[in-house]
Amino acid sequence: MRTTVGIIGAGPAGLLLARLLHNAGIDAVVLESHDRAYVERRQRAGILEQGTVDVLRAAGAGRRMDREGLRHDGIELRFDRRRHRVDFPGLTGGRSVMVYAQTEVCKDLIALQLEEGGPLLFEAEALAVEDADTHAPRVRFRHQGREDVLECSWVVGCDGFWGVSRRAFPAGLGQVFERTYPFGWLGILADVAPSHDELVYARHDRGFALLSMRSPSVSRLYLQVPDGTDAGAWGDEEIWDELERRFTTADDWRLERGPITQKSVTPMRSFVHEPMRHGRLFLAGDAAHIVPPTGAKGLNLAVGDVVTFARALVHLEQTGSPELLDSYSETCLRRIWQAERFSYDMTTLLHRLPGATPFEDRLQLARLERITGSRAAETDLAEAYTGFPLDRG
Ligand SMILES: Cc1cc2nc3c(=O)[nH]c(=O)nc-3n(C[C@H](O)[C@H](O)[C@H](O)COP(=O)(O)OP(=O)(O)OC[C@H]3O[C@@H](n4cnc5c(N)ncnc54)[C@H](O)[C@@H]3O)c2cc1C
Repeated sequence: MRTTVGIIGAGPAGLLLARLLHNAGIDAVVLESHDRAYVERRQRAGILEQGTVDVLRAAGAGRRMDREGLRHDGIELRFDRRRHRVDFPGLTGGRSVMVYAQTEVCKDLIALQLEEGGPLLFEAEALAVEDADTHAPRVRFRHQGREDVLECSWVVGCDGFWGVSRRAFPAGLGQVFERTYPFGWLGILADVAPSHDELVYARHDRGFALLSMRSPSVSRLYLQVPDGTDAGAWGDEEIWDELERRFTTADDWRLERGPITQKSVTPMRSFVHEPMRHGRLFLAGDAAHIVPPTGAKGLNLAVGDVVTFARALVHLEQTGSPELLDSYSETCLRRIWQAERFSYDMTTLLHRLPGATPFEDRLQLARLERITGSRAAETDLAEAYTGFPLDRG
């Protein structure tokens, strides 16, 4: 099998890249280790930055998002039983975000790829990327019980944190920057209308809580829990009781309860692999970097990477100049480190660190007071939340 761009992974990064290349007339093959139902069901991100929304629309993948997505013009910060709304358009000159689940983005892109695009092979597991530093890189993969080889001009590893692409970098070439946090998020999906029409980020002495949503009738809620927590160990009523405690306000706000349809625990990690290119192999999305979900940046960073790659390859085809491909890693990393910084800031602002001293607790509250009391500090948060531009940090 032969193609111009071999794409490993059909998460948002791989699927969007395939769409962008198709629109530019460049052929590509996508290899995905799981089946279609798994990819379309996996619950993850839900917040699309303004730039991501614009990219999906321009790629012809925004029709259902525009119909069913929920435009959000702000978030609420909650601490000390108080509520503070951050008004995005007012602080950023009109920017907002869209609540539209990653599962739906993937469904839309898969449907488009199967109807109009090149091959998308499910249950095709990449085993290794070979000859990445030559003009003819190859992906060895297994599909329907048989081993095969995909011969490419370029390979893009969009295979997430646990994929094989990163392993093709020679030892000693890559450098890893990493931080793990001693807590995770217990996330639930519940069949109940969201109790607030915007996301609520709550800092509480018992830990962080987040109220989010997937649609007008489905709530997504998270609780900070100790590292290694088993989701099954939490009873449904116990979860609602704890959420209620952490969201408590001084006014008459109420948390609506409903049937919990899914429970899982997500570990929290910051991770960056530099550089993001080795020869003709490029890393994109979670394959190269992870952010804790507090800043809602992971999916948006994946989008930024593949837009940068597609633009660079089109530039090469049109002008013969590899200049943009050569600066791929540097261009992406500028934006990635801004997102790493913001996600770290949001995480340490809102979560209770085990063993935090009273001094640290007071500092956390002082940081929240600063954001809610200073337009400059609040603008900084609003700009970062609604998204960093795709072409610079
Ligand atoms: C609970 C949670 C909440 C989140 N919330 C947000 C949010 O609100 N906003 C946000 O922007 N981000 C959020 N994120 C992060 C976001 O989901 C990820 O950053 C995003 O999925 C990255 O996309 P990707 O395509 O790079 O990787 P992935 O989505 O991980 O896709 C990688 C794909 O590669 C496939 N694959 C792996 N290995 C191989 C192989 N060897 N061969 C072939 N295929 C392979 C996998 O099956 C998978 O389909 C959240 C994440 C979690 C876990």
